[in-house]
Amino acid sequence: MFRSATTKLTLVYLTIIMAISLFFSANLYQLSMRELNAGLERQATAYNAAPRLRDILHDLGVGDEVEQQLNLGRRRVIANLVYINVIILGLGTAISYIMARRSLRPIEDTMERQNRFTADASHELRTPLTAMQSEIEVALRDPKLSKAEARELLESNLEEVQRLEGLSSALLKLARNGEALELKPVGLEEVINKATERLAKAAKQQRVKLKVDTKPLRVQADRDSLAEVLVILLDNAIKYSPAGKIVEIRVYAQGKQAVITVKDDGPGIAAQDLPYIFERFYRADTSRSRTEAEGHGLGLSIAQKIMEQHHGTIAVDSTVNTGSTFTLKLPLGA
Ligand code: ADP
Repeated sequence: MFRSATTKLTLVYLTIIMAISLFFSANLYQLSMRELNAGLERQATAYNAAPRLRDILHDLGVGDEVEQQLNLGRRRVIANLVYINVIILGLGTAISYIMARRSLRPIEDTMERQNRFTADASHELRTPLTAMQSEIEVALRDPKLSKAEARELLESNLEEVQRLEGLSSALLKLARNGEALELKPVGLEEVINKATERLAKAAKQQRVKLKVDTKPLRVQADRDSLAEVLVILLDNAIKYSPAGKIVEIRVYAQGKQAVITVKDDGPGIAAQDLPYIFERFYRADTSRSRTEAEGHGLGLSIAQKIMEQHHGTIAVDSTVNTGSTFTLKLPLGA
């Protein structure tokens, strides 16, 4: 599809270049011919004004030579213009192709990302559906299905439905993140309390301790969205940390910015995965994140988008077997 678009755009650019070149060539030709004709006329006037001189020159064969010279000049102008236009055609084709590729590349990249996203989303949606379908089919084929087995099946299906529910709400958040947020002065303590409250139960279940060291700073933010970023970071820190570990949240001011760090002593992230963890659907390929910890690889990309909407940044510093620190920075508010 993009090959034919490149060819079409190349032709459009080339047509424009050649139209300009031919326009100037035609003008140049006319100008040169006018000059040549003017020369010819001057010669003719001289002949007519001095008939004797013309006869003498004619006898000497000079008049023919002048005409021959003029014809030669005309042919040379045409040859030069053809030569220049052929060069412009060659160079123009190359330049048009490069310009067409450049113009189309961003569109091509966006479409590729879109296709990858659709494929990943479909895959994530299909996995729980396939699991549910095969469980239900097996159960239906069993004429002696006990009540306990049926209950087990329903529980397992409920888990898959919850997974699907989580995925669809994450996809909705990603879609909604294109909208502009209304930023207002918000107290960071309030935002952090909101996030830690939401994760207190999960931390207890994982036997992970949440330690908060906050300051009464105010930022320009959308309270719920900023709390969502912290929930994503804390949720990851808790789910990837082994039992008994501590997850630390710190808040401090740095120049005109507020800094929030979420630090864990979990498994850390391998250097080769670090550049990709903010991409949609990316999950570091460790046995831990694949099997034990639930997720779709959308949390950090949602967090990054929300931080962009706050004119802030999100960064990570992580070492395998030591832990990870995620750092949020956003402008301090009034
Ligand atoms: P999810 O956690 O749902 O897989 P995220 O986008 O939140 O998706 O995270 C992407 C990946 O980054 C995770 O799959 C995991 O491999 C890695 N990751 C994120 N946070 C941490 C953390 N605190 N410790 C270790 N790995 C992490």
